[in-house]
Amino acid sequence: MKNDNSAPVSTATNFIHQIIEDDINTGKVAGQIVTRFPPEPNGYLHIGHAKSICLNFSTAQKYQGVCNLRFDDTNPEKENQEYIDSIKSDIEWLGFNWNEEVKFTSGYFDQLHQWAVYLIEQGKAYVCDLNADQAKDYRGDFTTPGRNSPTRDRSVEENLALFEKMRAGEFEEGQCSLRAKIDMQSSNMNLRDPLLYRILKVEHHQTGDKWCIYPTYDYAHGQSDAIEGITHSICTLEFEGHRPLYEWFLENLPVPATPHQYEFSRLELNYTVTSKRKLKQLVDQKIVNGWDDPRMPTISGMRRRGFTAAAIRKFCEMVGVTRSNGVVDVGMLESAVRDDLEQNGKRAMCVINPLKITISNFDEVSQMLSLPSHPKLDMGEREIAFTKNILIEKEDFSEDTTLGRKKFKRLVIGDYVRLRGAYVIKAEQVVKDDQGEVIEVIASLVPGTVGANPDPEFKPRGVIHWVSAEHALPCELRIYDRLFNDENPDKDKQKSFTDFINPNSLQVIEQAWVEQSLKSAKHEEGFQFERTGYFVVDKDSSDEKLVFNQAIALRDSKSK
Ligand code: ATP
Ligand code: MG
Repeated sequence: MKNDNSAPVSTATNFIHQIIEDDINTGKVAGQIVTRFPPEPNGYLHIGHAKSICLNFSTAQKYQGVCNLRFDDTNPEKENQEYIDSIKSDIEWLGFNWNEEVKFTSGYFDQLHQWAVYLIEQGKAYVCDLNADQAKDYRGDFTTPGRNSPTRDRSVEENLALFEKMRAGEFEEGQCSLRAKIDMQSSNMNLRDPLLYRILKVEHHQTGDKWCIYPTYDYAHGQSDAIEGITHSICTLEFEGHRPLYEWFLENLPVPATPHQYEFSRLELNYTVTSKRKLKQLVDQKIVNGWDDPRMPTISGMRRRGFTAAAIRKFCEMVGVTRSNGVVDVGMLESAVRDDLEQNGKRAMCVINPLKITISNFDEVSQMLSLPSHPKLDMGEREIAFTKNILIEKEDFSEDTTLGRKKFKRLVIGDYVRLRGAYVIKAEQVVKDDQGEVIEVIASLVPGTVGANPDPEFKPRGVIHWVSAEHALPCELRIYDRLFNDENPDKDKQKSFTDFINPNSLQVIEQAWVEQSLKSAKHEEGFQFERTGYFVVDKDSSDEKLVFNQAIALRDSKSK
């Protein structure tokens, strides 16, 4: 698979890298390093997954290894092709390339089934007749040891015959299951005869109606790692207690390799929920407009919002990889985005609350001006027409001539200001409506001041942005705030996280005006609108009206 926005090899280091280096130095791992990213296709990926993606792919990159993309598709009723497609495109967009073809746990269903039969033959698995509630009761809890299932001591032959009947669809869902025979008294609940297969009479997006029994995550995961020759199986801390089971399977099955599982802490962000189930709820209840709503912490939402892949990678690097759980301030993600856009974003002018300026001494139809697209980097030039009628922000004009020059660096009646990339002008006169509101300012330009300093007597107060009244393009701006107004929307046991939705998370400015050079702006192209923020062209844009999402404001107004 080729990817033209590939992530550069990261120089960051962490405890996983330490383990890998030790494994290479001691010869524990002789061949290449193989990692994997194993999403379940039951939703869109979110910022937490981005951390896992960056870790798995960049670790492989760093040691000249490979990283597999494996869909962990053992719950067919919750999975679908839309999720598979979105996950693939998110990973590519983040700048990573997976090894070979995409892999699926379902691709190993035959092998996993054979190994289940093998465990039965070894007397290490049995068909259990307890239903889910009964099995839960028999399992005990942290303080109560479990009890053996009444059918735990079935003969190998009986188990083989029953498992075959399960596979053939002769039982109802929930009627029986296949369990490993380990230890119902174990202090580790995961070892209390864990479930290997359950009956699910549902079609699978990859295997169709071939199977009506499906392996559990615990049974499938380590074996899939072994089949693929994964050397370092990296997952989040909640799987730590599953590691003895992961190892039990590998010890008790004739697997071709012995992968090892390592755990790191999940990424949690304040003001954010990162659980696919909850994100799906936001989508299903139409609290947001789909998985890629720019307020969502999904990769596709952040992408649509105008966050860049480089900024997300940088953020994942900044939060680091450790084994201690903690909540990261979402402001850190926002500032990674701001830094990236500040350095790399093209500049453009957009006027939100227009005030008309008429240049009394400009009588040409228009004068084309060239402005650099970026003040420091070479990003080319943009062409803008200067015309007799222009628009500036209302708030950039004042009639109050007592305003100090340092205090108000904008246009004041009787004084000078520079129009960005164009002339120095002087406000001469105001035109008011019946209510006494200024609706137009008559100004004059100082000749010869495009790209040149004026004589000291015409020294401008400052620089303001503007657009040509005739050439500017109408646009819609969508300004986003955090989706939740509470730092920890999950905190309350009595309330739902949806009770903490910020009602003002989306503000739509239906009419604003951008410079005409944005006519050719492409979907997802980003710009810094002077003084307003960083914006990106949304997919809802049409020839009639451009739509921009605000990725982030110019400055952080939240953390003080
Ligand atoms: P969720 O809890 O959001 O539904 P999940 O863990 O069920 O996520 P998977 O599709 O199983 O989602 O995750 C794929 C990989 O991403 C796993 O290895 C998982 O550990 C990792 N991952 C998921 N959430 C996070 C997170 N918040 N931080 C870091 N890694 C994560
Ligand atoms: Mg999961």
